[in-house]
Amino acid sequence: MRRLRGSVVSEGLARGEALVVATGEVYVPEGRVAEAMVEREVQRFDRAVAATRRDIEVLRNEARQHLGEMTEIIGTYLAFLGDEATLLGPVRRLVREERYNATYATFRRFSDVSRELEGLPEPLPSRVPDLVDIKRRIIGHLRGGRGPVAELERLRRKVVIIADDLSPTQTAKLDRDKVLAFVTDRGGPASHTAILARHLGIPAVVGLGNVTKAVRSGDHVIVDGMLGEVIVTPDDESVRQFQSKSRKLAASRKKVHLGHGVAHTRDRTEIRILGNIDRGEQVPALQELGIEGVGLFRTEFLFLGRRMPDEEEQRLHYGRLLADMAPHPICIRTMDFGADKWDHRVGGQHEENPFLGMRAIRLSFAHETLFRTQLRAILRASPAGNCRIMFPMIMDVGEFRRAVGILRSVQDELRAEGQAYDPNTKIGAMIEVPSAALTVENLLREVDFLSLGTNDLTQYTLAVDRTNPLVANLFDPHHPSVLRLISDTSEACLRVGCPLSACGEMAGTSDYTPVLIGLGLTTLSMASRRVPLVVPRIAKLHLAECRDLAQAMLAADDAAHARRLLDDFHRKASTRSRR
Ligand code: PEP
Ligand code: MG
Repeated sequence: MRRLRGSVVSEGLARGEALVVATGEVYVPEGRVAEAMVEREVQRFDRAVAATRRDIEVLRNEARQHLGEMTEIIGTYLAFLGDEATLLGPVRRLVREERYNATYATFRRFSDVSRELEGLPEPLPSRVPDLVDIKRRIIGHLRGGRGPVAELERLRRKVVIIADDLSPTQTAKLDRDKVLAFVTDRGGPASHTAILARHLGIPAVVGLGNVTKAVRSGDHVIVDGMLGEVIVTPDDESVRQFQSKSRKLAASRKKVHLGHGVAHTRDRTEIRILGNIDRGEQVPALQELGIEGVGLFRTEFLFLGRRMPDEEEQRLHYGRLLADMAPHPICIRTMDFGADKWDHRVGGQHEENPFLGMRAIRLSFAHETLFRTQLRAILRASPAGNCRIMFPMIMDVGEFRRAVGILRSVQDELRAEGQAYDPNTKIGAMIEVPSAALTVENLLREVDFLSLGTNDLTQYTLAVDRTNPLVANLFDPHHPSVLRLISDTSEACLRVGCPLSACGEMAGTSDYTPVLIGLGLTTLSMASRRVPLVVPRIAKLHLAECRDLAQAMLAADDAAHARRLLDDFHRKASTRSRR
């Protein structure tokens, strides 16, 4: 038995068989073979291509059952695998003429072609990730294994996925019913894969460093998403503890149901709970909990890892969602691509600091046609329910005005075409960049509502990359500086009566509930799985005590001091509730 520790990112418990997959980009060092081995090397390459083709054929058959969006990608894969002129012929030539081994020749030719495609006009650059995937699969066969991504897509039974890292695209493509838990070497609590795992309600532990080396496929593992712990080949006592903990967790989750979407503190302060979703199918889970409204719909997950939905498909999706939640609001956040939610169809060239680069609203401005298509789809869907539109990563009021300007011009266009839309759709912005929080007074003159994105607000305030495990210990939403920005935003909103919610992970983390309430937040938006953890915490709080806590934390010297104050608060509360 072995216990490994990582970051807590998605609560929940799982036990089962491990499947270890390496999903990262492959790198192959230069290598040559002796003259006499050249033809054998060419044959090895041909066999690897044939094996990859067989994998893809199997995938095509399965796609019809549960990987609908993959069908189009598979056509592209097969085209690459038959491309003699650009790919297969040149690889053989590199082996024969340069005496490179087949693995390096494949790596080199496929990488060169990827780079060439990137420089050409669309739609060619959009095929690069598929080419990279094919390269990885062929190299996997040349190295004697099956393609790692093929393993992921071909999950036949329920497994705990152990990977170096998973991109949101890979996570989005998985057959979710077969995944018991995610465990990764890399990643941090606020990475988008972690967020997606929380949405899917799949337990996850990330940032373990070298779990892919410590676990073998087929090993029996326990994943404790609450403690951020992974137990490899657990003993009987650990299994017994796991079973008892699972029973308690299931019982506590069944109990929560909100009246009118509202939770109450001990002194009867109302805290409205809204849902965070990334696709329409998550609405029933919110409704079962009595939640009335969605505070954050992350629309980019409709696009990631799948075919680009056109205006009509998007309209239908948004329309269904709005109708399902009517008369309660759905806050549709426009695409937040970029950084770790990279999509080759909207991503630009390689960036050294992608979180500080072309991301979110900046990418929407750069790809205005795509942005306008999304806005047309949302607006055309708006009569179906109570629609709100929110822009991500707004830096200041000028940027907000620019986004609203495009929205208004789309409205004019729709009016001219005689298309219906709700002219009273509320328009808001996320407060997730410090510059927006510091100039919130300007924004408040123009927005209908604001929502605090505490993940990015923490990342940008503390200069801590939310996905980097090396600095995960510094990612402290309770840092006095972050709390100061939240507090100032909250006070400013209160002064002018502007609705404010918090929708970052902090809002769905019960540890932080007293702080946010103490800072004046009365609306918290979170994934459905977090509700049974946050609502019981709210019921134990008293507004005056929360305010005292928040004031003390705002005045703390640093993150560690603020943490101690919060821990003391929790300790006192739990002693009181035991009495
Ligand atoms: C945030 O930054 O807190 C947020 C809600 O947006 P995302 O996590 O999608 O960047
Ligand atoms: Mg954000």
